[in-house]
Amino acid sequence: MKFFKSKTNILFLFIIFLLVACLSGVSYFAYDKYNDYVDVSNELDENISDLEAAQEKINGLNEKIAEYDVDVTKSAQEKAELKSQLDAALAEKARLEQENSSLKTEIEQLKIEKRRNELQDAIRLNKVNQADTAESGICYLTFDDGPSNNTLKILDILDAYNIKATFFVVGTAKTQYLPQIANRGHAIGLHTKTHKYEMVYKDINSYLEDIKGISDIVYSKTGIRSNIIRFPGGSSNKISSNYCKGIMTDLSKRMPELGYSYFDWNVVSGDADAAVVPANTIATNVLNRAKGKKSICVLMHDNGGKTTTVEALPQIIEGLKKMGYRFEKLTAESFGFHQNLNN
Ligand SMILES: [Zn+2]
Repeated sequence: MKFFKSKTNILFLFIIFLLVACLSGVSYFAYDKYNDYVDVSNELDENISDLEAAQEKINGLNEKIAEYDVDVTKSAQEKAELKSQLDAALAEKARLEQENSSLKTEIEQLKIEKRRNELQDAIRLNKVNQADTAESGICYLTFDDGPSNNTLKILDILDAYNIKATFFVVGTAKTQYLPQIANRGHAIGLHTKTHKYEMVYKDINSYLEDIKGISDIVYSKTGIRSNIIRFPGGSSNKISSNYCKGIMTDLSKRMPELGYSYFDWNVVSGDADAAVVPANTIATNVLNRAKGKKSICVLMHDNGGKTTTVEALPQIIEGLKKMGYRFEKLTAESFGFHQNLNN
């Protein structure tokens, strides 16, 4: 096998492999939109053939009426019946035409959405590559939305493995656990006090007020002024555009100016995909999505209902250890895993 002896040839094969991997990633994400597009496209084809059939029926009826008009043997009743059949056919045609125009609008929208999704997925892939420029082999486990009834269980598991993580906290009814998080050596990040999108993202001042709210709670419980934040929904969220256009773009500049580092993630555990996601699914998600990445920031939730996240945690930690990751908590200087801004 002389081919494999040349370094250039091996590099060439590797590049081809990377290209195929990227393309299949993009097509996988675009698949859903593509399916919608195909469905509506088929519906439109069906509608067009229905329309043609309706027009044919109308033509036939018109011909018959013309014949009947000159045929003295046909009674007025027969002619009237034929007229009413024609009216019904015309009404059906009008309905089909309306359906046709709304299907055409829908397909245009889907075309635009499909294109947008393809572009976003390409951008996302590019971002993942950027994350690969972070220091290699580090895993940042992050828990959002706590403290909760699960916080102490999570802390016990982390202690058992002697690893540190990061908690992006909100103003829950369990803030009495904040000192434990800090005392056991983990990082506390600010995730806003209310986590209510309509309040947090109403405008810049509302956001700053909400961050101050949680910052004050953390400070009063732990004496720590945290300078690391995570935006509710991440910096790439689109929901905020319902309340304030461009707020994420503004905040992503403003918060660093105010001395905060913000963090997104590049591995989603999927524990928020449903009320209760099986522990095994959460662990498999994390381990599969961590594959091929130099450093990872894993998004999980510390929420009373997320009991399976706690169950999945040992499997996640052991799996990631086997993959060669070491665990660290985030600091203001850590790599941000920033996603693309969508608002
Ligand atoms: Zn959250």
